[in-house]
Amino acid sequence: LVPGDGAPTLAFRGGWFRPLRLAFDEGGSLLAEEVAGEARGIVLPGFVNAHSHAFQRVLRGHVEDRGGDFWAWRERMYHAALELDPDDVRIASRAAFLEMLRAGFTGVAEFHYLHHDSSGKPYADASELARAVLEAAAEVGIRICLLETAYARAGAGAALDPAQRRFADSSPADFLKRAGDLRGRIESGAWPLASFGVALHSVRALPREWLAEIGRWAVRLDATLHMHVAEQPAEVEACLAEHGRRPVELVDELGLLSRRFTAVHAIHVSEGEIGLLGRSGAGVCACPSTEGNLGDGFVRAARFIQARIPLCFGTDSHASIDPFPEMRETEYRERLRSGTRRGAAGAAQLLEAATAGGARRVGWAPDEGAAGGERKTPVGRLETGFAADLVVIEEGDPALAGADPGSLAGHLVFGGSPRLVRDVYVAGRRVIESGRHAREETIAEEFRKLQTRLWGGR
Ligand SMILES: [Zn+2]
Repeated sequence: LVPGDGAPTLAFRGGWFRPLRLAFDEGGSLLAEEVAGEARGIVLPGFVNAHSHAFQRVLRGHVEDRGGDFWAWRERMYHAALELDPDDVRIASRAAFLEMLRAGFTGVAEFHYLHHDSSGKPYADASELARAVLEAAAEVGIRICLLETAYARAGAGAALDPAQRRFADSSPADFLKRAGDLRGRIESGAWPLASFGVALHSVRALPREWLAEIGRWAVRLDATLHMHVAEQPAEVEACLAEHGRRPVELVDELGLLSRRFTAVHAIHVSEGEIGLLGRSGAGVCACPSTEGNLGDGFVRAARFIQARIPLCFGTDSHASIDPFPEMRETEYRERLRSGTRRGAAGAAQLLEAATAGGARRVGWAPDEGAAGGERKTPVGRLETGFAADLVVIEEGDPALAGADPGSLAGHLVFGGSPRLVRDVYVAGRRVIESGRHAREETIAEEFRKLQTRLWGGR
């Protein structure tokens, strides 16, 4: 059962469950050999959470009963963001990352835009808060891509909200200085499970010159580049008013669309924008639990797949942290839209998107046709030479009773939950054992104290 004990296991590879003999080498890479005959246990590649704002874990349960719209929610989020000091960011991030591991996520792309102190002043170490997030990831043992996020303004011609001062830099040069320094630290191996990427917050938060300068820097570095795109209709209207173009059209004109680009949400996109994304090799990250929570709208997953736009999933605001509903909600929304059972994709394809697909969007695995080059151990597949990031499923769980190799993907995607996650390995190290993390009491206790301080009496 446990990889490494020599027995073949039923493992998900290339869209199928098949008997594989799995072992790890000392560097945390997989040796995976296809074998014939009986297999014991069920193993998946680890899920990749391709869009996260870890600090927003503090919002759960405190922003649900007030109605309002996305913009009202954002006000509450700013309240929380204003209160957090570096240690709080570490505690909140650690709680979010722990919950991810328990749910079967072995990696996370952290879209990190909380940079400065509450008054908007850079910390003595300008990357103090990124470091808090990276240390939180290292403490719990999750793989992380830190997407250093550029932010400049409240909107076209709008003054910064006091809370937004924590997110915003005063010039692209200030951003690039901090980002370049952080990239150097990450690439020197200061956090062995970390990689570096760039995010452009949105067309709301960045004027054209910033998008161009920072975006092109990322393109020159061949860095992973993520951006919130077309989450709200008002964002598209403001973009049209300011630039005479829709968000994806603007990003395309600036030369930023490529296989390294991921549009997060991409809900309110036109047919023309879908064509641009599809031709460039860019991908889309769907976050259906957050998008539903915020009333953003529906990701057009079926249309994207038809246009050969790769999909991945994220838990974004962490209203819940669970890969299973992200997969099935993406599919169910398409069925609800069409009024038929013809959705976006089959169960195995959704499982691929949530694992290997996420790893590619985060820059952890070479895309077909991309220059792989100097990349480290690839992630996302149960193949020899890939990182040993994997999930051992609790095969005795009643939810899987009667499943066979042909129906297992369907059982997991439509009937699965984190309850089925028994053991989790990241780079060959077991971080969840029988559903538990060695440090979860301490991590939960510190998070409880933080929540009491933030929300007590409110
Ligand atoms: Zn987001």
